[in-house]
Amino acid sequence: MLLASLNPAAVAAGADLADAVRIDGVTLSRSDLVGAATSVAERVGGAHRIAVLAKPTATTVLAVTGCLIAGVPFVPVPADVGAAERRHILTDSGAQAWLGEQPEHPEGLPHIPVRLHARSWHRYPEPAPEAIAMVMYTSGTTGPPKGVLVSRRAIAADIDALAEAWQWTPEDTLVHGLPLFHIHGLVLGLLGSLRIGNRFIHTGKPKPAAYAEAGGSLYFGVPTVWSRIADDEAAARALSSARLLVSGSAPLPVPVFERLAELTGHPPIERYGASETLITISTRADGERRPGWVGLPLRGVQTRLVDEHGAPVPHDGETIGRLQIKSPTMFDGYLNRPDATAEVFDAEGWYRSGDVAVIDGDGMHRIVGRESVDLIKTGGFRVGAGEVEAALLGHPGVDEVAVIGQPDNDLGQRIVAFVVGNADPGELINYVAEQLSVHKRPREVRIVDSLPRNAMGKVLKKELANWA
Ligand code: AMP
Repeated sequence: MLLASLNPAAVAAGADLADAVRIDGVTLSRSDLVGAATSVAERVGGAHRIAVLAKPTATTVLAVTGCLIAGVPFVPVPADVGAAERRHILTDSGAQAWLGEQPEHPEGLPHIPVRLHARSWHRYPEPAPEAIAMVMYTSGTTGPPKGVLVSRRAIAADIDALAEAWQWTPEDTLVHGLPLFHIHGLVLGLLGSLRIGNRFIHTGKPKPAAYAEAGGSLYFGVPTVWSRIADDEAAARALSSARLLVSGSAPLPVPVFERLAELTGHPPIERYGASETLITISTRADGERRPGWVGLPLRGVQTRLVDEHGAPVPHDGETIGRLQIKSPTMFDGYLNRPDATAEVFDAEGWYRSGDVAVIDGDGMHRIVGRESVDLIKTGGFRVGAGEVEAALLGHPGVDEVAVIGQPDNDLGQRIVAFVVGNADPGELINYVAEQLSVHKRPREVRIVDSLPRNAMGKVLKKELANWA
């Protein structure tokens, strides 16, 4: 079973857990989850696709769980989605109704409410592993968001591989305050907990104090969350009783890694993935946790680096290549977009991640950034934006930084750094020249009040390019 801890027979026979899920002031036991979600399943059974407005509530948990019990693919719609994107997601996915949270703009679709206290004990057969569990919309560099088809098999394979790497067990209490419309919060956090059978606590907004109060053993956060916790000594120290702190979705700055390790006693685990591949690379509970590196391929995952002609790039810890992946966690294509699906796989079935990375002799991976924006070609050299960002973060006057390449008549591209902090631009330029090498120094440093970021804390580099 995909949601193994919700096996109705086992729960009825006593494998209940009074506080399986805590979210938005509501506590659900395993039998609440089975009973209420099966009642949801009865109301959506037979549907083709269903939209779920993914606010972090018990209603959303039951909507998603009900769809998985019934074998109806659901489409998580971001809680803060804009009008054009919402219409695109609904039309493209062919969703027949909204389930769960009441949308403010239903766009003509009926709404099926979820009743927290309804119960059904009907037993549904487990849908086939190849069946699509959900369609997750993801924005590329161009065009409208694409619907990523994620199978039940991919989800199960990913959670099981992570359980092995992180020694994640039913004894854990998993805590996070992330959105339920991304892989991180929804697939790993919620579905992971319902498969493994650990307690799950959603903190609401991921504030440091809320993380500190939750008393978990396993914490998930994006780098912005960890950076705030590292700045809040009391909250960070409270996490010393946890077992594992996990960061992902964007690069974790080395100073944040080090400060967290110092205050909590736990060097954070980093993991890398995408909506298309789920999580494929991670450091391990029992392995090396190297600041700035995301670790080793998970069980069953293969990775390789190639250059622009598809030729192999040495795994020497220094040479930058395009990261390609084969994995049992791979998606089943983009909905309605065979063209886009064909584009991301090569003839041998390797998935082109669009990220550039380095791999060292031990197989450790460091993500340099997105190929389209983070691989800067300047004066004949290839420079990874991530490397320049990491160097700048080592300067005491720099709090946050994003580096991009801008068109330049002389150099091809010119390195431009946007810095939040208190430092002299000229000094920062010299600092990078000394720390890395002269050709890697920014030609321009702009001090700004804040960086444009999305809900997952990722810097919106396309927007920065417009600022430049
Ligand atoms: P998404 O599909 O929205 O989850 O975005 C996936 C992208 O996020 C990847 O292709 C990477 O560019 C980036 N990403 C995810 N995890 C990490 C990480 N640990 N370090 C650096 N970049 C990451």
